[in-house]
Amino acid sequence: MFPLPPGSTIGILGGGQLGRMLALAAARLGFDVVILEPEEDSPASRVARATIVGAYDDPRALERLAKAADVVTYEFENVPAAAVERLLELGAQVAPNARALAVAQDRVDEKTFLNSVGAHTVAFAAADSAVDVEAAAVQVGTPCLLKTRREGYDGKGQTWIESAADAAAAFQRIGGKPAIVEARADFVRELSVIAARGRDGEHAVYPLGENHHEGGILRRTSAPARASEALLEQAERIAAQILGGLDYVGVIGIELFELADGSLLVNEIAPRVHNTGHWTQDGCAVDQFEQHIRAVGGWPLGPTGATCHVEMTNLLGDEADGWPAYAAEPNAHLHLYGKRGAKPARKMGHVNRVRPLG
Ligand code: AMP
Repeated sequence: MFPLPPGSTIGILGGGQLGRMLALAAARLGFDVVILEPEEDSPASRVARATIVGAYDDPRALERLAKAADVVTYEFENVPAAAVERLLELGAQVAPNARALAVAQDRVDEKTFLNSVGAHTVAFAAADSAVDVEAAAVQVGTPCLLKTRREGYDGKGQTWIESAADAAAAFQRIGGKPAIVEARADFVRELSVIAARGRDGEHAVYPLGENHHEGGILRRTSAPARASEALLEQAERIAAQILGGLDYVGVIGIELFELADGSLLVNEIAPRVHNTGHWTQDGCAVDQFEQHIRAVGGWPLGPTGATCHVEMTNLLGDEADGWPAYAAEPNAHLHLYGKRGAKPARKMGHVNRVRPLG
C-alpha cells in the first residue's frame, strides 16, 4: 500500500491552519484530502476535497473517515486516544502512531519518555494534590513552574511557584488538576528543531530555529539559528533519539532550551507540524508540510537544508489586517489562514521575511 500513489486520499483530524497547510502541500503532490473537524467552515475545510463535520470521537464520523482515507494523520495532539483506537480497529492506517500521541498528551509521560531515550529535560515531579505540589517544589527547588499534565498550550495552565509556601495557592490557580512541577530552566535561548522520520526509518532534520515568545505565544522564529557544529550535532542526536524511541512516522516539533554551557534540554515535543517550522515554507526546497505528507504517505523524504535565512512572524488578532503592507513588502511571503473573525492573540497568519544566507 505504501508508497501511496498520487490520487490517494489523506485524512486529517483537525481543520485549523496546520491542517490547511498540510492539505495544500498534499494537493501539490496530487493527493486528495478529507478533514474531520467539529466546526463548520474551518480553515482546512476550504482547501480540502471534503470535510466530515463531527466530534473527533463520533463513531459515525470516524467510520466515514476510515473508509475515505488511505492514511489518517492529525494536526494537533489533543485528539482523543479513543478516536485513534477506533480508527485502528476500523483498519485505518494512522501516523504518527498512538504511542507518540499518548506521550505528547501528558507532560509527565513525555518527560519520562525523553529521559528514557537519553534526551535530557529539567528535573520534574508529578503532583496530584496541593501536598504533592509542595513536596515537588521542595524536591526540584524554587522558583519552579507548575503546569497541568494535560491540555496546556501557549502558556495556558501554567503558573510559577516562588516558594514552597505558595504551593497550595498555585495548585488552585491551575484549577487543582493533575500537574507536573518543573525546575526552572535557566536558558539563554529557546530553540526548536523540526525533524521527520519516514516509513523506512530514514531521518531528516531541519536546521535549528530560534524562537521568541510573548505572553506565552510564539511571536517570531529566526532560522537557521546561529549554531556551532557541536550544537547542531546535539540537536540531531536528540531528534534521532526521540524519533527512533517512538518508532515515529511523520514530522515532529521539538522545543529546546539552550543553557549557558551549550547543552540542550528538551522542553516539549509536538507530534505534528509545528509553528516554529513555518519558516521552512520559504527557506527550504521541501517544507515541513510536504515533508509530513511524504513521510505518512511512505514517500522518500526531501532535502532539509536552508536555501535562505527566514524570519517568521506570527500575525495575531487584527495584525493580519495589515495584509496590504505585507503584500507590498519585497522579500516578504505572506501566509493567511482564512479564519473568520480575529479574536485578540488568535493566530491569523504569518509572514516569512527572507534574506540570503550568511
Ligand atoms: P510550554 O507550554 O511548556 O511550551 O511553555 C511555554 C513557555 O514557558 C516556554 O516556551 C518557555 O518560555 C517557558 N517555560 C516552560 N517551561 C519552562 C521551564 N521549566 N523553565 C523556564 N521556562 C519555561
